[in-house]
Amino acid sequence: MSYPSLRPPATVAIIGAGNMGSGIAQACAQAGFTVRVRDIDASMLDRGRSLIAKTLQGAIDRKKLTPAKRDEILSRISFTTGLADAAKDAALAVEAVFEDETVKGAVFRELASLVGPDTIVATNTSSLSVTKLADGFPQPGRFAGLHFFFPAAVNKLLEVIAGDRTDPAVMRQLEQFGYRLRKIPIRTADRAGFAVNRFFVPYLNESCRLAEEGVASLATIEEVGRELFGATLGPFELMNVTGIPIAFHAQHSLFAAFGPAYAPSRLLEQQFSSHQPWDWRSTKVVENQKAAVRDRLLGLTIGIATRLVEEDVATPEAVDRGATIGLRRKWGPFSQLSSVGVSEGLRLVEEYAKPWNGAFPVSAELGSRAARGDRTWPLRSVVVEHQGPVAWVLLDRPEVLNSLNSDMLIALRQAFTELAGDGSVRAVVLAGSSPVFAAGADIGEMERKTPAEGLAFGFLGQQTARVIEKFPHPVIALVEGYALGGGLEIALAADFIVAAEGAQMGLPEVTVGIHPGMGGASRLTRIIGRARTKYLAYTGIPVSAEEAARMGFVVRVVPSDRAREEVQALAETIANRAPLAVAWIKSVIDNGMDASLATSLDLEGQSAGHTFGTEDRLEGMRAFLEKRSPRFQGR
Ligand code: NAD
Repeated sequence: MSYPSLRPPATVAIIGAGNMGSGIAQACAQAGFTVRVRDIDASMLDRGRSLIAKTLQGAIDRKKLTPAKRDEILSRISFTTGLADAAKDAALAVEAVFEDETVKGAVFRELASLVGPDTIVATNTSSLSVTKLADGFPQPGRFAGLHFFFPAAVNKLLEVIAGDRTDPAVMRQLEQFGYRLRKIPIRTADRAGFAVNRFFVPYLNESCRLAEEGVASLATIEEVGRELFGATLGPFELMNVTGIPIAFHAQHSLFAAFGPAYAPSRLLEQQFSSHQPWDWRSTKVVENQKAAVRDRLLGLTIGIATRLVEEDVATPEAVDRGATIGLRRKWGPFSQLSSVGVSEGLRLVEEYAKPWNGAFPVSAELGSRAARGDRTWPLRSVVVEHQGPVAWVLLDRPEVLNSLNSDMLIALRQAFTELAGDGSVRAVVLAGSSPVFAAGADIGEMERKTPAEGLAFGFLGQQTARVIEKFPHPVIALVEGYALGGGLEIALAADFIVAAEGAQMGLPEVTVGIHPGMGGASRLTRIIGRARTKYLAYTGIPVSAEEAARMGFVVRVVPSDRAREEVQALAETIANRAPLAVAWIKSVIDNGMDASLATSLDLEGQSAGHTFGTEDRLEGMRAFLEKRSPRFQGR
């Protein structure tokens, strides 16, 4: 099943113009989508419209937006009380009505007859089951969760939730949609609290328990919360700002799903019933109470985070992004685990879990990592996804535009080394997980390097590039957004580069006092010649996809909204050709490049001769004569 690609100016219908709906509408309009907002209550539409206008005015006051741009954004949003009006031609419908299963269910039943046959439908629920809500919709394959964080126009995190029957292609589309909204999407499974609220809400609740048990004063807990997680607000002030009722109700949903270890604290319940904010300021910080608070909050956080991974709800990387991007903490739970050490982390979790007698299960993987003597729980920066015979190797540090650090180069080398032994792979696409290839090497990491470390870093990049270059099957680099410096150097190690419209490529190393060292200058010289390489390396000025194609180091420019589909199709075309012939001509071209013409001709002739000895040659020629498609076996 194919779905309309969710790209501007496609129409997004937003159902519900409350706090979330209006923010989501603004985010979509800012990204260039046509937005139709529907609310049953006309006064809420007016409120939504003025909320958006107010936020945009704030951006104008801060000189982040021009009045003309504001008018353009507003012109993309229309408001209606008619669901049919909003749903007409929508590529995506996002529901953001009251958190009530019956109300939401009615919306989906009504939507079913109003949207097109391939419209993707998403719910912005915080606590209901996406799978259950999908029951009300006739095609659950194109139904998923899109959990925005308040304020939805500003907060960069987006949880993309797969219901049990959500089509993986829909998940991919929604993830790309998230990137188009300039958000960082994280995938989660459909379990209560998804990835973030599952550990965040219990942190608020645990803070109340600590006070209730007399472990520490409110002010102490508030301060530890801030310091421990590197957050601007501690738990009580955060609840004062975002609403005690939200915390209380969310904890109730977790309690219903996960049992007594998630029971709401009595103090939280009292505060909720009192309708008063927390008065933590009238209490005092007591230094010697801090350690106990720290241990409990860390034990709880690491305990839940590691369970999220064990239950396949989210990856450790997604959990950490949830904390750093969604909650604006300085560190995510897995980074915190690595900094205290895995065995100390396990001790804290076991200590936390003890009184719950099994109701707070401890991750078995945490236990086995500790038993193995692992000191850290490393985060992955490269992801491999298979789409038929094509493997996508995705650089995955979207929060820093995939800037390349040592860990990433090692992970990249390892991914290619492992794929080389995977018999099902016939072609690889090297790209970013977000529509950015890599904005360069990580300057933060490079700034601290001694000359010897700088040398080692360059050679690590060279080794990685060499493994990519020597990969036994074709490798296509898809450059979207940026491929600058080290990013371009790595892309140049692929067999060729396909760039998306709007992409920028360059070698800006000289602007920070260094020059290319991962082999980019040498490779580029062989592709486009000395003069053009020097132009790029001396000026540091980036060139567009089209200019790079004219210069000869990009073989094809594809529309940015269909880049992944086009490159997948191209890779499949290659994957369907005779695999040995493709692999051998790759090696002839690469080895012949550095040899004399006579040697290269000899290599080419010998290798072509060998193709005549393959079964695929017989199959290919017979199929041609019999006017059918060949079935190549790679023999
Ligand atoms: P809200 O009360 O501010 O807005 C809900 C809106 O939905 C109201 O304007 C109401 O008139 C409208 N509505 C009700 N029934 C409708 C229908 N049938 N058709 C169209 N509109 C209808 O609520 P909110 O805070 O924007 O939350 C919306 C959803 O987002 C909820 O599911 C909530 O759990 C979820 N959510 C909220 C937050 C948050 O921080 N507020 C964060 C993430 C997700």
